[in-house]
Amino acid sequence: MFESLSDRLGGVFDRLTKQGALSEDDVRTAMREVRVALLEADVSLPVARDFVKKVTAKATGAAVTKSITPGQQVIKIVHDELQLVLAGEEGIAPLKIDNPPAPILMVGLQGSGKTTTTGKLARRLKERDGKRVLMASLDVYRPAAMDQLAILGGQIGVDTLPIVQGQTPVDIAKRAKTQAALGGYDVYLLDTAGRLQIDQVLMDEVAQVHAAVAPRETLLVVDGLTGQVAVEVAEEFDAKVGVTGVVLTRMDGDGRGGAALSMRAVTGKPIRYVGLGEKMDALEEFDPQRIAGRILG
Ligand code: GDP
Repeated sequence: MFESLSDRLGGVFDRLTKQGALSEDDVRTAMREVRVALLEADVSLPVARDFVKKVTAKATGAAVTKSITPGQQVIKIVHDELQLVLAGEEGIAPLKIDNPPAPILMVGLQGSGKTTTTGKLARRLKERDGKRVLMASLDVYRPAAMDQLAILGGQIGVDTLPIVQGQTPVDIAKRAKTQAALGGYDVYLLDTAGRLQIDQVLMDEVAQVHAAVAPRETLLVVDGLTGQVAVEVAEEFDAKVGVTGVVLTRMDGDGRGGAALSMRAVTGKPIRYVGLGEKMDALEEFDPQRIAGRILG
């Protein structure tokens, strides 16, 4: 998911390490190249600028340039800063799913991969965490979306709330809450309706459902291929309904990875998971350390 960025940075750092002794100017030149590489990966300008500024401040001191392996030191500083920009100072806390039944609200635009991700997350909670999971589709506009969730539930062995025609999303959410409590479920996932773009009707509906169930987590699903647009979508959703975490989908595609790098710094929200394919097991926990390592090859 970060191939081109990784290649570009690899080139910059190869030159640095081969060079042996480094002057502050060498570091500055390399950092200008890092900045270009980040922007080409569709990282937002303020994030790229801030990143390079911080790394340059740490990497131009004598402790680095006069050390025996200055190139390696610079790479280490970049690595640590990448980790910080991916995870924030405070790191990523576990999902709040204690106190059963814990509601998780899944929100996002239509086509972002929300229903697929709901299935993937349900499977993960069941298989890895041994949770009893219930899923419910609140998409009253598209019966196909309800059927899709029920089919996924069948595939992964997770219960879905029976479909009742004519109910509002809030009705369904309340029914899911009751069913989750009565049925002894640990977690229930509410797959809200999406739209092609953000509009007031969508936001009002999500806000009403939010008020009805008080979710522990509100996870925004966004298409990682859309780069900076994904970050803008996250900002809008967060401003309107409050988001606690983000799932970036299609990170298996040829995206440049910029959304992953800008998301935390711009929105303050942690990326929780990345979607890496259409299959139900193609969901990976977002691990900043591993991702930073991957970016630096
Ligand atoms: P929704 O409208 O947001 O609920 O979107 P869907 O869950 O129906 O997903 C739309 C399409 O994207 C489907 O064909 C999914 O299989 C596909 N999709 C979802 N997540 C991923 C992912 O992480 N990688 C890839 N390659 N495809 C995905």
